[in-house]
Amino acid sequence: MSLRIVVCVKYVPDATGDRHFADDLTVDRDDVDGLLSELDEYAVEQALQIAENADDAEVTILTVGPEDARDALRKALSMGADKAVHVEDDDLHGTDVIGTSLVLAKAIEKTGYDLVVCGMASTDGSMGVLPALLAERLGVPQVTLLSEVSVEDGTVTGRRDGDAATEHLQASLPAVISVTDQSGEARYPSFKGIMAAKKKPVTSLDLDDLDIDADEVGLTGSWTAVDEATERPARTAGTIVTDEGEGAKQLAEFLAGQKFI
Ligand SMILES: Cc1cc2nc3c(=O)[nH]c(=O)nc-3n(C[C@H](O)[C@H](O)[C@H](O)COP(=O)(O)OP(=O)(O)OC[C@H]3O[C@@H](n4cnc5c(N)ncnc54)[C@H](O)[C@@H]3O)c2cc1C
Repeated sequence: MSLRIVVCVKYVPDATGDRHFADDLTVDRDDVDGLLSELDEYAVEQALQIAENADDAEVTILTVGPEDARDALRKALSMGADKAVHVEDDDLHGTDVIGTSLVLAKAIEKTGYDLVVCGMASTDGSMGVLPALLAERLGVPQVTLLSEVSVEDGTVTGRRDGDAATEHLQASLPAVISVTDQSGEARYPSFKGIMAAKKKPVTSLDLDDLDIDADEVGLTGSWTAVDEATERPARTAGTIVTDEGEGAKQLAEFLAGQKFI
């Protein structure tokens, strides 16, 4: 039977762009370009490698995000995934991580899965909690923050490198895993891959398709709320140390004054 792999990818605002909050204190997504979260490229890469090593496998890319999030799906499809699912609904505006995990879990159940692959964190929210929430909602094991991963005989095996120890972990499928940026460079889409991606199926789902009420998500359904946000102060010019024989001493005094040394 085919190994069904679902990769969760997030469409994030470009971190190099100028980002702001909208009036309702959600991220203003209209004024900034978006892209596939770079950390999720590692998840796509590991899913493709697992599929390549399996007798028969299918890789589905899944995102919950606005219309433009299709760009992230196309990029993952051009890397080699087979198909994609896009959950989009106006009522999702302002959904927090708890709501996002509900939507993803329902979409994953509808799609069918043996293995869910996530990135270690998004490059914007960077909570790194979504894979754990997802595993809890799906009622399956979670093996997170893996720098090495393989699947054999219905078991996922991985290595987690911690500060004090390296752990070798295993779980039976179905399971949720997340992979780190140490798991291996993500491939670049080839020209052939980019052309092929244009013809790959992308299924659109909304909240009705997933039997989710609007009040379970969005700003009203969120368990967390942003009460206040203050713009980061503009960068100052900094301190220039001119070396007139005592440059090193002045530098050391400056660093000590800032408690760097
Ligand atoms: C239209 C829209 C509006 C939103 N507005 C808000 C808001 O106002 N306030 C708020 O707190 N949150 C909001 N969210 C949710 C938020 O952007 C995150 O998706 C969610 O909170 C996950 O947290 P994180 O980014 O820290 O994920 P992490 O836990 O850091 O992500 C870990 C992994 O989970 C997966 N993942 C995360 N998000 C998604 C996703 N959306 N689709 C598919 N896979 C994903 C990726 O594999 C990622 O690498 C919104 C989401 C959407 C779609």
